[in-house]
Amino acid sequence: MNAREKVKKLAARLEQKYGSLKWESQGDPLEILVLTILSQNTNDTNRDRAFASLKKKFPAYESIVRSPTEKVAEAIKEGGLHHQKAKRIQEVLKKIKAEHGAYDLNYLKDLSTEEAFNELIKFDGVGKKTTGVVLTFSLNKPYFPVDTHIDRITHRLGLVKKGQDPHDVMNALVPKELTYQFHLHLIWHGRATCKARKPLCDQCVIADLCPVPTQGLPLRERRK
Ligand code: SF4
Repeated sequence: MNAREKVKKLAARLEQKYGSLKWESQGDPLEILVLTILSQNTNDTNRDRAFASLKKKFPAYESIVRSPTEKVAEAIKEGGLHHQKAKRIQEVLKKIKAEHGAYDLNYLKDLSTEEAFNELIKFDGVGKKTTGVVLTFSLNKPYFPVDTHIDRITHRLGLVKKGQDPHDVMNALVPKELTYQFHLHLIWHGRATCKARKPLCDQCVIADLCPVPTQGLPLRERRK
């Protein structure tokens, strides 16, 4: 079985366990971009608290840009790395306004996935994961984002090897129509079963497709 076939089999198995999902937009592209910047290095709860606090204190994007960075940082401090994220959000907003005359990313809808990818990745501090989340979850332009759970599982499964870029590898392997569902299913599987510290391999529905139960964890984890 080659890697593409393996991905399809994994996706089918996880669909049996977690159910099939229909794509639905998670929100406006600029809101999703800000939310995803806030999600860097924190959990969903703290991200959502930081986002709610930001919106409450700065209802308009213009007010975020015009305020001192320390005030924006104060509003999002629950998400951690708040000074860095505040600066990043202000810079992204400034750039969007300067280039497009408004705080609006809806023009991306008219671009190809590749063109929209290039528009987003050019912002400082916006990497492939953040770009992929905006493309897939707001714009229905499939690009497979790799978060910490997916990075861990795909290495354990042997799909991504040490030193490879997981985004490049997985985007070559995951069929476009599976991007949205497979991304979410892998995250759920990472939280419930393929846990960071102690994977529950004896309860895992993809254990027969994974080398860990017979060979142990990959080298990069054994050294930790
Ligand atoms: S068998 Fe274990 S290591 Fe492999 S995917 Fe399942 S829980 Fe993770």
